[in-house]
Amino acid sequence: MSYNDGRVGHLTEDRVIPVPGAPTMRQVIEDWDQARPGRGEGSGLAVSDVRLRVPIPDPSKIIAAPVNYRDHQAEMSTDSQVGALGFFLKAPSSLLDPGATVQLPYHDRRFDQEGELALVIGRTARHVSEQDALDYVFGYTGLLDITMRGGEDRSTRKSFDTFTPMGPVLVTADEFGDPEAVELHCWVNGELRQKANTRDLIWGVAQLTAYASSVTTLHPGDVITTGTPAGVGPLQAGDTVRLTLSGLGTDLAVQVAADHAVASPTSGHHSGPVPPPAPPQAPAARG
Ligand code: MN
Repeated sequence: MSYNDGRVGHLTEDRVIPVPGAPTMRQVIEDWDQARPGRGEGSGLAVSDVRLRVPIPDPSKIIAAPVNYRDHQAEMSTDSQVGALGFFLKAPSSLLDPGATVQLPYHDRRFDQEGELALVIGRTARHVSEQDALDYVFGYTGLLDITMRGGEDRSTRKSFDTFTPMGPVLVTADEFGDPEAVELHCWVNGELRQKANTRDLIWGVAQLTAYASSVTTLHPGDVITTGTPAGVGPLQAGDTVRLTLSGLGTDLAVQVAADHAVASPTSGHHSGPVPPPAPPQAPAARG
């Protein structure tokens, strides 16, 4: 995990044990095979006393699967899915720390939560096979692909600052378990919106990673997020979003605000794939 000013520690129970030498997460990942860091010394810090940071703050790219679950394809009423679309990119500057606040930029557009399993690349990968792909994965973490609905390009709709909460921890592949059998739950204000298992991915983790490496060189620290299942829905200021993944141990939670929202300068409001209708809201939930 990354904490405070971005230093790296091992999370053990409720303590954070600093990695000696204060490397960045990217350095830890790049050196893992040669110089796997020791478990550190001393009793460390209570996790409740540190500020959680996004596990890898500076990936060279965030590769994201569009429609990669059949039930999400159905709810979006679209003929297209990952096998036809390939991947899209999210700006790394959209990353957000666990526990921080998503800022919605416009007051006249719909923004949805998308809970996803993400992986972080451990070794440079180019044209790797599906059979070998998981050997290039350093670890796994949670990711919220916050999305503006509409007809603008995906890379715009999903790249606003704060639109990629990630974490709270990065679990190494050897400890995570089978990435193709991960239970995913995503709540908004305590209401369960998304429940899925990564076995239902159209392109699984290995296939998606192999495909990505056939397009572009994957560098240590790069992030690939696997796509979201059915249950996307609109977010409003005051909401809390929470994502759990089996194998991760801790939840990714963020708040939502719209502190400086303005009118959208682009006109994709009434084009693009049509999302499912908003779920009924509890009237008392809005201030
Ligand atoms: Mn997504």
